[in-house]
Amino acid sequence: MPSSTKYIFVTGGVTSSLGKGIIAASLAKLLQARGYSVTIQKLDPYINVDPGTLNPYEHGECFVTDDGAETDLDLGHYERFLNVSTSQANNVTTGRIYQHVINQEREGAYLGKTVQVIPHITDEIKRRIKLLGNTGNYDIVITEIGGTVGDIESLPYVEAVRQLKWEPNFDCIVLHLTLVPYLATSGELKTKPTQHSVKALLESGVQPDILALRTEYKLTEGVKEKVALFCNIEPKAVIQAIDAETIYDVPNLMREEELDKVVLDKLSLPYKDEPTLTAWNEVLNKIKKPKHKISIGLVGKYIELKDSYKSIAEALIHAGANNETEVDIKWIHSESINDDNAKEQLSSLDGILVAPGFGERGIEGKISTIKYARESNTPFLGICLGMQCAVIEFARNVLGHSNAHSTEMEENTSAPVIYLMEEQRSITEKGGTMRLGAYPCKVSQGSIAYEAYKENNITERHRHRYEFNNKYKEDFENVGMKATGINPDNNLVEIVEVKHHPWFVGVQFHPEYKSTVINPHPLFVGFIEASVAVKNESTLTSNNQ
Ligand code: GLN
Repeated sequence: MPSSTKYIFVTGGVTSSLGKGIIAASLAKLLQARGYSVTIQKLDPYINVDPGTLNPYEHGECFVTDDGAETDLDLGHYERFLNVSTSQANNVTTGRIYQHVINQEREGAYLGKTVQVIPHITDEIKRRIKLLGNTGNYDIVITEIGGTVGDIESLPYVEAVRQLKWEPNFDCIVLHLTLVPYLATSGELKTKPTQHSVKALLESGVQPDILALRTEYKLTEGVKEKVALFCNIEPKAVIQAIDAETIYDVPNLMREEELDKVVLDKLSLPYKDEPTLTAWNEVLNKIKKPKHKISIGLVGKYIELKDSYKSIAEALIHAGANNETEVDIKWIHSESINDDNAKEQLSSLDGILVAPGFGERGIEGKISTIKYARESNTPFLGICLGMQCAVIEFARNVLGHSNAHSTEMEENTSAPVIYLMEEQRSITEKGGTMRLGAYPCKVSQGSIAYEAYKENNITERHRHRYEFNNKYKEDFENVGMKATGINPDNNLVEIVEVKHHPWFVGVQFHPEYKSTVINPHPLFVGFIEASVAVKNESTLTSNNQ
């Protein structure tokens, strides 16, 4: 058990979207490869208690952990890079901090005192930061502070960091990520925004220890020296974070910059093993030098913001690498598909994935897409709402229940093949009340899913309120849609498959959350494998004609 955990705070300056999550995950990866146990925490400065109630257009996908936390999508990066699970404690929002403090106040915990941002809110932030370290499971905790330094919302977090830096026996450093823009007209890399953002941190009493500079072009030594001089940073602690071909290059790039060594020096920790990243680089190699290429249609209604489907897109890359295949994702708006144009819009695809989602918008397009995938023998993976739509499509077009629907979209449908789960019926509040997190599933031998997982007992993560209506199960099975994965505790249908189709699988759970670089998800691997096989077969057939 590690004796005392050390902390690395990651802050961001100049603009948002610089990729703090990727830098944090890459650093963690290098430290992990040196033999340290590391975890990453994200502090989000918004007032929602969790991102579960946010529309994906706001901050992208909502990631779900095994223990049922609805979290920021950065936790997905942490898991994909580190190959270890995160939990409730890894994501904290301002809403959660305030909720806790206000509940305490109501309980009388501060009787007589004025409850204030300092010290009460900052104390609660500090308590949350220390929670992961206090488990004794980690040598190093990396805490990423969302938002940009200088934002009103971030102030209490930066203040908490300032206090912690001065706390005896609390060992921490601050890594600040900023931008060095390139001005094409003068052909120069500019350091002023970085200087200003460090100044903003200094105004809050925090001197960063390391600067990582996002840049499109290689930084000259001159630029690095200038930044070091103006920002009170040791020259070797000014790290170049250059744009990468893929996010999975960043650990190697950070290693070249010796970020891990600089961090360990500053934390007075030994270097331990040299990070080889052998398995990681094998995957990276396959991503960069694929033998095949296929197009997968990702059909959803939030495609204008690709981050809405972050884990799915990454899972496709992992599974592609496993099959030495480049997966070209075609982002297709579900509202743009109907029965009349489905063939024309979808026939060039080698596989079709229908995405999770909520509500009525785009639902008929998803159903038309699935009809096309089923009838044209195109490999199909339906996730959560995508699986539910596959059930509705089959009920309408094969079972002959032309009005079949989910009660989510049509409460009084005469054929409610998808309906509200029993446990959900008395729930009125929206926040954190879905069926969330990991649940077991028993996979039937001989099924496509079994072929992928190669085991009977699996656990997968969930985020839904509606489920397959078991009243119809026999009818479905009689005409070719089989329930091949069942929750052993409550009989909930977790996986459906269509017979006499090369690869047609719908899952009530979210396999994408468990796919990592080193462990691509078996269902995604199977889906890509089938898509490559079907493509190769049809090329053969057309060449022989
Ligand atoms: N809206 C559906 C439900 O709540 C599906 C949810 C999802 O796709 N995550 O059951």
